[in-house]
Amino acid sequence: MARVAFIGLGNMGGPMAGNLLKAGHDVTVFDLSAQATAALAERGASVAESALAASADKDYVISMLPAGKHVTGVYLGDEGLLAALDAHTTVLDCSTIDAGTARDVGAAAEKLGIGFMDAPVSGGVAAAAAGTLAFMCGGDPMTFEKARLILADMGKNIFHAGPAGAGQVAKGCNNMLLAIHMIGTCEALEMGARHGLDPKVLSEIMSASSGRNWSLEVYNPYPGVMDAAPASNDYQPGFMVDLMVKDLGLAMDIAESGGVANRMGQLAQALYSEHQAEGNGAMDFSSIMQRLHTR
Ligand code: NAD
Repeated sequence: MARVAFIGLGNMGGPMAGNLLKAGHDVTVFDLSAQATAALAERGASVAESALAASADKDYVISMLPAGKHVTGVYLGDEGLLAALDAHTTVLDCSTIDAGTARDVGAAAEKLGIGFMDAPVSGGVAAAAAGTLAFMCGGDPMTFEKARLILADMGKNIFHAGPAGAGQVAKGCNNMLLAIHMIGTCEALEMGARHGLDPKVLSEIMSASSGRNWSLEVYNPYPGVMDAAPASNDYQPGFMVDLMVKDLGLAMDIAESGGVANRMGQLAQALYSEHQAEGNGAMDFSSIMQRLHTR
């Protein structure tokens, strides 16, 4: 059993903290929302008045926050959480944020002798609840060994991508590729359907051929092909367009700072931004299919 502080109990952090309680850890939580902390208290968590109070004398501090500014605020801001931690505490930030902020917080932690790891996730709310998330970690190997012990209670695949910031880079690469193959899958299915092919049959053909990919095989965007996919449920999320647009923005920063001409990624970002601007931000990201239906 480990002593854990969990900061940020939203759609993802709430179920993740719940799984740590289920695994028998001693969990202290903090969130700006009293409703969010109350839900975890009902499941056996202790509730703290601040992130700083939650983090005193813990084996792990885990955060799941919206964006880089929140992560900077919690760890390097007024409360000075990092500076107040015991040296044996390991900090795991699971938020999806820019790689630069992850490196900055990692460097500040290193100066203080504290193990820090950026550990963004793939899998969404369902995987957070099921404890089957994939974690992409950035930090030193010793911190990774300690991190995987606790991450295993919230996820199924735990990868060490490299030093601080590398987890965020891996996440940016993955989600840019996801956006590109989702759009490509939509275009291929629509093209076949307009020529009279049954999208189910076409999906079977491409899944057994060189066009196979996750969007086609696991998360098919054509309504009616897969009963459990958001496409067959009016594109209810799932993974919202708003979050994909956020992740594509982070991916563009990664590409630019690495000097990469990512034309397909830029096009995917433009298409998802248009789709969001037309009022579809809260829909599942596979709803990009609808833009093809109407043209
Ligand atoms: P959310 O908005 O549901 O939850 C964020 C929580 O953080 C809220 O409860 C908010 O009150 C809390 N918070 C904000 N600032 C705080 C502070 N200073 N101190 C304490 N609590 C604070 O967001 P989410 O969907 O849980 O996403 C969290 C992170 O996970 C994001 O970075 C997101 O990009 C990433 N992510 C989300 C999904 C998904 O499907 N929702 C999938 C993968 C990754």
